[in-house]
Amino acid sequence: MKKIAILGSTGSIGTQTLEIVREQKDIEVLGISAGSNVKLLEQQIREFKPKLACVWTEADAKELKSKVKDQNVKILSGMEGLIELAIMEEVEILVTAIVGMIGIRPTIAAIEHGKNIALANKETLVTAGHIIMPLAKEHHVSIYPVDSEHSAVFQSLNGENHKEIEKILLTASGGPFRGKKRQDLYHVEAKDALKHPNWSMGRKITIDSATLVNKGLEVIEAKWLFDIEPEKIEVVVQPQSIIHSMVQYVDGGIMAQLGTPDMKLPIQYALYYPERRPLMGKRVDFFELAQMTFEKPDTKTFKGLDLAYRAISLGGSMPTVFNAANEKAVALFLEGKIGFLQIADLIESAMESHKRLEEPNVSEILEIEQDTYDKIIRQI
Ligand code: NAD
Ligand code: MG
Repeated sequence: MKKIAILGSTGSIGTQTLEIVREQKDIEVLGISAGSNVKLLEQQIREFKPKLACVWTEADAKELKSKVKDQNVKILSGMEGLIELAIMEEVEILVTAIVGMIGIRPTIAAIEHGKNIALANKETLVTAGHIIMPLAKEHHVSIYPVDSEHSAVFQSLNGENHKEIEKILLTASGGPFRGKKRQDLYHVEAKDALKHPNWSMGRKITIDSATLVNKGLEVIEAKWLFDIEPEKIEVVVQPQSIIHSMVQYVDGGIMAQLGTPDMKLPIQYALYYPERRPLMGKRVDFFELAQMTFEKPDTKTFKGLDLAYRAISLGGSMPTVFNAANEKAVALFLEGKIGFLQIADLIESAMESHKRLEEPNVSEILEIEQDTYDKIIRQI
């Protein structure tokens, strides 16, 4: 039995991870956690029988505790709970399916305790990649990408020599507003932005896909995962989401991973690497597909991507500001408090007013996150 724990078991990635557990039958789930979805967490406790479960607030923990009195499970709350879950003794792989920078501390704790990481929580790597990657090396921990593009790159690197990489071609669907211009986007609302053409995902990442900030976060994520300079990472819009990403080598050869858009493949690959397990589901039918098309990203309309390149080339604490400003702006947009185009504007102004630190430690990263949130709240 493979032993795992999941940060964020009730979300899009978390529930798909549990579907794999259900299908494969040789994974034991020792710990699960959620922000506030007590109802689903209770169901998951009854079905998967973890030893530990964690919710964010103490009040929710109390409610959950009374609901699962008949179960042999320890219930915890808050950051302490997430960290305890991340370092559970028998856990081999921690699936980081939580959304946002809240994942930083539990991920670091897990690495320090020698846990391999199946990483979906890209915000953690974007803001603390300079801490996480060397730490993983020091503790001989593997970080398996769950993000579909990074899984595709990871698969395209199999058996190849890293030194022979010319560039990484990161594919993007272009999101729900591909082809639109700024004047078309002044009045779009959250419900419009939440309609992703190819993928069904959590709310925050769906908005990030509409702004192209997600692709920006993924460029930074790729830099850390594959130790590649951002200049060697090119974003290619491929609206059908069949090519999940590619690696171009020095002889011009390109290796790609293709498939229907289904996150279960990258999640399962991360859990079982280097083994490939059978996975049911739709296959690519090239005759039905008939064509694949390619475009340059429209970075004038969607400024998020260029801002990410700027953040990573400045480095230090700038990616933290990029990410934190985005997290706050997306939350405000989802609450209907700001317009769609203001998301990128707020990121830009947060970056412009930030005095960069060279190598921020975890407490500095978290302070900068809070300062960035406060600045944005004052601004709107
Ligand atoms: P989601 O919103 O569907 O789920 C987030 C999970 O985190 C939920 O279980 C939620 O309860 C939990 N959570 C939130 N706040 C918490 C807190 N304070 N304490 C404990 N748990 C908390 O998000 P998602 O779409 O599953 O995305 C998760 C991560 O994976 C994100 O970083 C995202 O960028 C990345 N990712 C997602 C997809 C996808 O297809 N959904 C693809 C690639 C990468
Ligand atoms: Mg992705």
